[in-house]
Amino acid sequence: MSKPAILAAAPFPPVTMAALEQAFTVHRLWEGFPGAVAGSIRAMATNALFGTLDAAMMDRLPALGLIANFGVGYDAIDVAAAAARGIVVSNTPGVLDEEVADLTLGLLLATIRRLPQAERHLRAGLWAKGEAFPLSPTLRGRRVGILGLGAIGKAVARRLEGFGVEIAYHGRTRQEGVAYPWYPSALALAGAVDVLVVVVPGGAATAGLVDADVLAALGPQGVLVNVARGSVIDEDALVAALGNGTILAAGLDVFAHEPHVPPALLDLDNVVLLPHIGSGSQATRQAMGQLMIDNLSSWFATGKALTPVPETPQAG
Ligand code: NDP
Repeated sequence: MSKPAILAAAPFPPVTMAALEQAFTVHRLWEGFPGAVAGSIRAMATNALFGTLDAAMMDRLPALGLIANFGVGYDAIDVAAAAARGIVVSNTPGVLDEEVADLTLGLLLATIRRLPQAERHLRAGLWAKGEAFPLSPTLRGRRVGILGLGAIGKAVARRLEGFGVEIAYHGRTRQEGVAYPWYPSALALAGAVDVLVVVVPGGAATAGLVDADVLAALGPQGVLVNVARGSVIDEDALVAALGNGTILAAGLDVFAHEPHVPPALLDLDNVVLLPHIGSGSQATRQAMGQLMIDNLSSWFATGKALTPVPETPQAG
């Protein structure tokens, strides 16, 4: 039996690419649009490297029924356009929460205790010359606000409980059975805490949610950690707030225009910058790839994806 054809929007890690090719005939969009067979392609595999997957792309694939995303965040896919065309979008929930939460705690500690700066100090030979690294701020006694207490936010909160800090959160709804104090807005949460961990989805609904007012409310001892999407933060306001002492420090894994990082951020010493590696371990990326492939296989075998996103419900 011939293998079903899919369109891969951008390259995947080698182990995922090999598994995709084992199961499907893979057309590689980065090598050119497969115009001759476009009408027979019923599924796409996509990831953050591709960028925006919009209505125009969907219209070029008249038989498209599934867009399988490699990753839990699908803000780069126009889900309204997909839903209007009856296209199901799937993502990869459940296989990366703990990994991203680990990274979030690492970034939080690195930012507050200034670990990259301390290592640069050592490597520059300053310690060997007898120059002590300046004492850092501390996580002790802090209150941590989680902006977006979802799957990853809860995994972050579980870890923070072990660190003995107070936890509060904001989401659009107060969650039944969650004992942490809930605040009705990002601004109210920022005013009540001195660490703000951002883990909401990207997209229009959260664009600029952390703005100059929220940063001012976080205050001069405030630490911002963003592992969500760059779009959630007003980057210009953040650069200003870090530069003029409105907040103390920031740890950022994501940026508004990746892989571009504003030069003004690169120039600041009170920010720790990572190249979007939240889920980026070999094992977790492999698990994400497998779940994406399982969604594709399920789609071709049964007409149903395993983990569709809520905006594109499946019939039946
Ligand atoms: P979930 O959907 O499980 O949780 C999202 C949370 O955000 C919910 O608690 C939701 O609560 C809240 N939320 C959603 N919209 C809003 C809003 N407009 N205002 C305030 N709160 C909101 O998502 P995950 O925890 O799985 O993932 C979160 C995001 O993390 C992903 O969408 C992705 O962008 C990012 N991510 C980043 C990674 C990295 O490598 N840095 C890796 C993986 C994910 P409520 O509905 O009550 O508002």
